[in-house]
Amino acid sequence: MENKNFIETIIDQDIKNGLDPEALCFRFPPEPNGFLHIGHVKAIVLNFELAKKYKKAKVNLRFDDTNPEKEDQKYIDAIKDNIKWLGYSWNKECYASDYFNQLYEWACMLIKSGKAYIDSQTSDQIALQKGAPTVAGQESPYRRRSKEENLFIFNSMKEGKCKPGEHVLRAKIDMRSPNMLMRDPIIYRVLNSEHPRTKKKWVIFPMYDWTHGESDYIEQITHSLCTLEFKPHRELYDWFLNQIVEKGKIRPKQREFARLNLSHTITSKRKLLFLVEEGIVSGWDDPRMPTISGLKRRGYTPEALKKFVTAAGVAKRENVIEMSLLEFYIREELNQTCNRMMVVHEPIKLTITNLPKDYEEELLVENNPEDSSFGKRKIKLTRSIFIEKEDFMEDPPKKFFRLSIGAEVRLKGAYIIKANKVNYKNNGEIDEVYCTYDQKSRSGSGTEESMRRVKGTLHWVSSTTNVPVVIREYDRLFIHSSPGQFKTEELYRIINPNSATVRNGYAEQEIGKAKEGDLFQFQRKGYYIVDKDSTDKQLVFNKTVSLRDNWKKINKNN
Ligand code: ATP
Ligand code: MG
Repeated sequence: MENKNFIETIIDQDIKNGLDPEALCFRFPPEPNGFLHIGHVKAIVLNFELAKKYKKAKVNLRFDDTNPEKEDQKYIDAIKDNIKWLGYSWNKECYASDYFNQLYEWACMLIKSGKAYIDSQTSDQIALQKGAPTVAGQESPYRRRSKEENLFIFNSMKEGKCKPGEHVLRAKIDMRSPNMLMRDPIIYRVLNSEHPRTKKKWVIFPMYDWTHGESDYIEQITHSLCTLEFKPHRELYDWFLNQIVEKGKIRPKQREFARLNLSHTITSKRKLLFLVEEGIVSGWDDPRMPTISGLKRRGYTPEALKKFVTAAGVAKRENVIEMSLLEFYIREELNQTCNRMMVVHEPIKLTITNLPKDYEEELLVENNPEDSSFGKRKIKLTRSIFIEKEDFMEDPPKKFFRLSIGAEVRLKGAYIIKANKVNYKNNGEIDEVYCTYDQKSRSGSGTEESMRRVKGTLHWVSSTTNVPVVIREYDRLFIHSSPGQFKTEELYRIINPNSATVRNGYAEQEIGKAKEGDLFQFQRKGYYIVDKDSTDKQLVFNKTVSLRDNWKKINKNN
């Protein structure tokens, strides 16, 4: 039997009760005050996948642009790019600001029917009267203002004759309601900033609750899916709808699901903006950011992100998903789809003394051992090569499965070598390792010598025929597993000072063909993507993920 999530069960029930399946319409309602993050991916996937499942259903992209102080066109552009990149296309592109007229008229209607009034107290006074969940609030002295006066002041607010904070419009509901949100919520305020779309036309702006449900109604959204923190808002959502619904039209339903919480990261736009503004990261698309743009630049693919949020599930209760699960999905995908490449990150020189000085041999190696259809590529063996510094120890401990004096290892795709001697520089660093190779041991040659068991296999790059590359490695941005519990200003305390390191390495020649966005497995190192900072002369790589999960170790040490 197909496994349905609780939202699908609700929709099925609604269809059974007579809802026309062709009327099904969802929406994704971002506020354009920041870039989208991994949590938003969950909401996006939920809505757009529902639309796919219920064949003719639609999804609107609605910008909830009611707070001009924080919103910007650059966020609108990024949000659209991100959703397209995830592979989804929306039905209508909507803006709450397109409904300002209608919302204003409905607000006037509320005033006329005695269900809204202008409060002229300060915000502090209003807050003091709110009460507490178990203590009833107090009614505002302005609650009994006449309809005429209310309408007159509301109009003056609209005409720009009032200062911010001088008056607000409040719904007249119930100051004794156990739901604090029902205690005469503010529905309009005056703001002095210019709106990115309506410019100076409006100076009164509707509040979230008033805007959201009514926008859902205008767009005839059938199911308005939001995160759990909006559950207490549902009563107000319904109250607002009650004021305007007409017979024969769809009455939107708000339903709540658990937000996606990811360990070791934050998913609050305000805090992400802080990281950007403080220069803790290089921007919204810094590869350490949990934003869609950051994840993309890090090497994540839409498929892996979708699989991850789908695996996280649609739940009714809050939970925290481990970062290792996100990494699992990208690792699994890249293992299937990436060409292998040999790249030495911290080179030391190794010379094969029984090869002639100008020796060059082209060897063929497989691009992807998981799939022979990826074909083979050529690598060049020369007398001197680079290997990884950490792959050699003159006098190693017992369990060192790499190169040491007297020991044999295989050079990946080439021959078995044996180290005979090492020279050091004055500062104690390795200058050069001298080896001999076994001519009969070439990989895949089928000879007895090639079958010999050796200590290990090392990646390597010719020291004369190679491509210098810049390699950026990333570690977690926070040293705490739930950074979300820290206040914005406290984030400095838990920033990992070593979350980004840059190295200059050497790659095999083949990599010269790589373009921005190409992904590779650097053998024995991990998965890497060509970054946008690359130029014709210099390739820059960002590490996407390691070959194996490191989180267990990290969590244990915390
Ligand atoms: P804020 O309102 O503080 O600016 P937000 O994260 O709520 O931030 P919105 O732009 O309002 O951002 O979010 C758009 C939609 O994405 C909302 O429906 C919201 O419920 C959903 N959403 C936001 N964060 C998550 C999350 N972590 N998991 C799932 N859905 C989320
Ligand atoms: Mg929000």
